[in-house]
Amino acid sequence: MDNENLETNIGKIAGLIASSRRLVFFTGAGISTESGIPDFRGPGGLWTRLDPDDFTIDKFLGSKESRRKQWHFVQEGLMTGRALPNAAHIAIAELHRMGRLDCVITQNVDDLHQKAGVPEDKVFELHGNMKRAVCLDCRSRYPFEEIKVRLDAGEDIPACPNCGGTLKPDVVMFGEQLPYKVLEEADRRSRAADVFIVVGSTLVVYPAAYMPQYAVESGARLVIINLGDTPMDREASVLISARAGETMTAIVKRVRG
Ligand code: ZN
Repeated sequence: MDNENLETNIGKIAGLIASSRRLVFFTGAGISTESGIPDFRGPGGLWTRLDPDDFTIDKFLGSKESRRKQWHFVQEGLMTGRALPNAAHIAIAELHRMGRLDCVITQNVDDLHQKAGVPEDKVFELHGNMKRAVCLDCRSRYPFEEIKVRLDAGEDIPACPNCGGTLKPDVVMFGEQLPYKVLEEADRRSRAADVFIVVGSTLVVYPAAYMPQYAVESGARLVIINLGDTPMDREASVLISARAGETMTAIVKRVRG
């Protein structure tokens, strides 16, 4: 895309945002790569180094060795570490402060939208959040920091402090159901949106990728900002293939006027 085209498209998106009544963002791994978090499927993504088969709920429940491996993976902070929100997260949080944001639906588990200043109740995490652990028996949730202290002290498979049950990182593993209430509300917000903006998702992971489809079916204008193609490119009113940070910053600057 040449610069003139990019400028025009940024202007169009700013116009859509300015006249929107229910603005919904949908974000995927591509929004967080600029924060240093590797994506899954891209070149150099996590699945070029790790085997997705090691991250199924059946394996996690079925073998101690697998639980040990997965806790080690979380402990190493490969997915979140000390990552900070980047310009794209900050731009979306700015739209919230301007009173323009209905919500963010995210496939990410990195907590960066909240860290950027979007309130918890406006972030729908379809795949959970790495900063928590959940007990599979009593459903208690714990901040990961508490669990990390125990892992760092040499405990290799932490148990629930409340009931002694099995703790799991509070993220959706392969083969595991998405959190029902979150999914239901994300579905409702997608259908109610009049402007639906995808940032950094290839829209191939389901059921998450149904959200933009629901939005379009219900009459929303669709915007896609993603490096690379998505199966919904033809449905988009505006399509930008560029990095999320600088693009979102330019858009919000334009909305501000
Ligand atoms: Zn428990």
